[in-house]
Amino acid sequence: MPRDPRYDILFQPVKIGPVTARNRFYQVPHCNGMGRAYPSSMAAMRRTKAEGGWAVICTEEIEIHHSSDHSPWMGGRLWEDRDIPVHARMCDAIHEFDSLAGAELNYAGMMAANRYCREAPMAPSPIPVATHDPLQARQMDRSDIRNLRRWHIDAAKRAQKAGYDIIYVYAGHQLSTISHFLSPYRNRRSDEYGGSLENRARLLREVLADTKDAVGDTCAVALRFSVDELMGDMGFTSDGEGRDLIEMLAEIPDLWDINISAWENDSATSRFKPEGFQNDYVSFVKQVTSKPVVGVGRFTSPDTMASLVKNGVLDFIGAARPSIADPFLPKKIEEGRVDDIRECIGCNICVSGDSNFVPIRCTQNPTMGEEWRRGWHPESIAPKTSDETVLIVGAGPAGLECARALGQRGYTVTLTDKAPNLGGRALLESRLPGLIEWRRVTDHRIQQIQQMTNIDAYQHSEMTAQSILEFGADHVVLATGAKWVATGIGREMPKGIPIAEGARVFTPDDVHSGTTLTGPVVIFDDDHYYMGGIVAEKLRGDGLDVTYVTPAAEVSSWTQYTLEQRAIQARLLKLGVRIATAHSLSDIRKQSVVLSCVYTSEQREIDCGSCLLVTMRAPVDTLFAELEGADLKSLSRIGDCFAPSTIAAAVYSGHLHAREFGEPAIQGTPFRRELPALSDTFPGNT
Ligand code: ADP
Ligand code: SF4
Repeated sequence: MPRDPRYDILFQPVKIGPVTARNRFYQVPHCNGMGRAYPSSMAAMRRTKAEGGWAVICTEEIEIHHSSDHSPWMGGRLWEDRDIPVHARMCDAIHEFDSLAGAELNYAGMMAANRYCREAPMAPSPIPVATHDPLQARQMDRSDIRNLRRWHIDAAKRAQKAGYDIIYVYAGHQLSTISHFLSPYRNRRSDEYGGSLENRARLLREVLADTKDAVGDTCAVALRFSVDELMGDMGFTSDGEGRDLIEMLAEIPDLWDINISAWENDSATSRFKPEGFQNDYVSFVKQVTSKPVVGVGRFTSPDTMASLVKNGVLDFIGAARPSIADPFLPKKIEEGRVDDIRECIGCNICVSGDSNFVPIRCTQNPTMGEEWRRGWHPESIAPKTSDETVLIVGAGPAGLECARALGQRGYTVTLTDKAPNLGGRALLESRLPGLIEWRRVTDHRIQQIQQMTNIDAYQHSEMTAQSILEFGADHVVLATGAKWVATGIGREMPKGIPIAEGARVFTPDDVHSGTTLTGPVVIFDDDHYYMGGIVAEKLRGDGLDVTYVTPAAEVSSWTQYTLEQRAIQARLLKLGVRIATAHSLSDIRKQSVVLSCVYTSEQREIDCGSCLLVTMRAPVDTLFAELEGADLKSLSRIGDCFAPSTIAAAVYSGHLHAREFGEPAIQGTPFRRELPALSDTFPGNT
């Protein structure tokens, strides 16, 4: 299909200093949990985005000097010339598709605890490091500042040698020493680098000039700056010093990469912020500079993108998450296939990879992070190896993705679900407060499946062991999901919680099915991801008196990895949900529950009309037990039916099954590994 002419503007080339981007799709820097540890994986991931049409592909943070290291986080490194080849591999891969490679150089200072190099971190003024390590950053003297400038120059030259086209000076997110100098609350100096904004911006101005002198003849120099820190008077605001700084340096960088900070604000989840949530903060920037401006806001709608450019808000459509969920987003717009875009759902599972020091993963895009180690491509897949047929029972995220991918391979697939709608838990959970975008997991796959004549999908179709056998498919895949247990069994109470006769006990599945709960409600969250917190929010929103109890130290504790924990706890507090952290539930009585302190075992009894348990899920796998040994070519379980986990894990499981289906079994480790290179010198082996 030809491209919609309304989107032509998105495909105009844009000049950035001495280089030119082939269109307006700009993958801004983003962490990926691979960096220096998995460089081939990282290069292949970025290459896929270049292939998918992103005109600019940037790295995550690259450490510029050994005296500031982010270990164990897996960013990039350009400490020495020896680091250049790793980056050259990625730049070459990006250049294969005529895209530009951008390097986000950074000296993290007090944001990094230097756990690897063991040097004392540096900061404009003495302050504890941000990581809660028992360590303080020392104040930089003038020679430290001179050194920092030199390290930036050296790293910029190395980046140029590696093949980068755009070199960043990073003053965003309060993650760089340059931003700490800018900060009115982190910089308490009284010399020419402290005090007025002009003074606090001196280092930034110097590093920009140094970088331009060093590489500006062939490389563009970009400035990444958080124009609003959402801290009011405590930090930069877009109508205060944020704006003043941009006016002050307006024409110095070749490109402004603008966002809001801290990172959890910049990468806000869809539960808290809609598409375009940064527009109000950044829309003034183009009025005060003639240089190109890139901004972000989880943009997935081409109409929104085109209107941002037409209305003079942005020159480039910046994206981290939308490019992760769909590396081929630009190409799909270019080819008139807008309906095929796999839209980001704003869940931040991608961030959780980086937070846990493992390669990136994505709920919507199961191939993300697997481009090199498994050789997976987001748009193509090996054709079928036989004409055998497949019946998939259960059309949640796992079943839908398995059907979609098997269908793409050319297999004849029947997908059934007993529910009135396809979608399983993704559909049910998308009805919880703020999770409407999660429907995209379901909608995208149903839309894709509907276009394939080799897939038949049926709702309202409960399958039994007998009807499955009667159906006569060669292969049966069970994707029947999991149910929350109402016993309290979980991490904290492995034997379950004693429940008195007549006590009213519920689970999130009852919330999904619309069961009426009577207050006061006590929620026991031993799951620690979003579910406990979000049902508390929903039931409180329904007007019920809610107490949230968890053995953890904070609400929805795992959501720290998706950058949401503070926002979730703040929301519950504002709604008036009572919160009891560090407490277990030791007894559920008819009209009360007993809370037990996890440290002292001290107990207290509180009134309870309904007790809602969020502890663990049990696979719905009775069909497996009934069909094991039946006359089938294969019987498999995928997703939550096999091992309950995240929606991302269910999608991945469905995709993996489809990829492996009909292929020879892999012996040993089923993916490629990046092994550390052995040094040629070793004690006893000179
Ligand atoms: P997953 O996350 O693994 O995809 P879900 O719980 O989201 O799991 O989806 C499981 C789906 O399986 C639900 O939509 C449910 O209605 C469906 N299902 C469960 N048992 C049967 C069955 N016997 N026949 C048809 N569909 C079933
Ligand atoms: Fe978007 Fe979630 Fe994928 Fe991240 S993991 S890119 S937030 S869908």
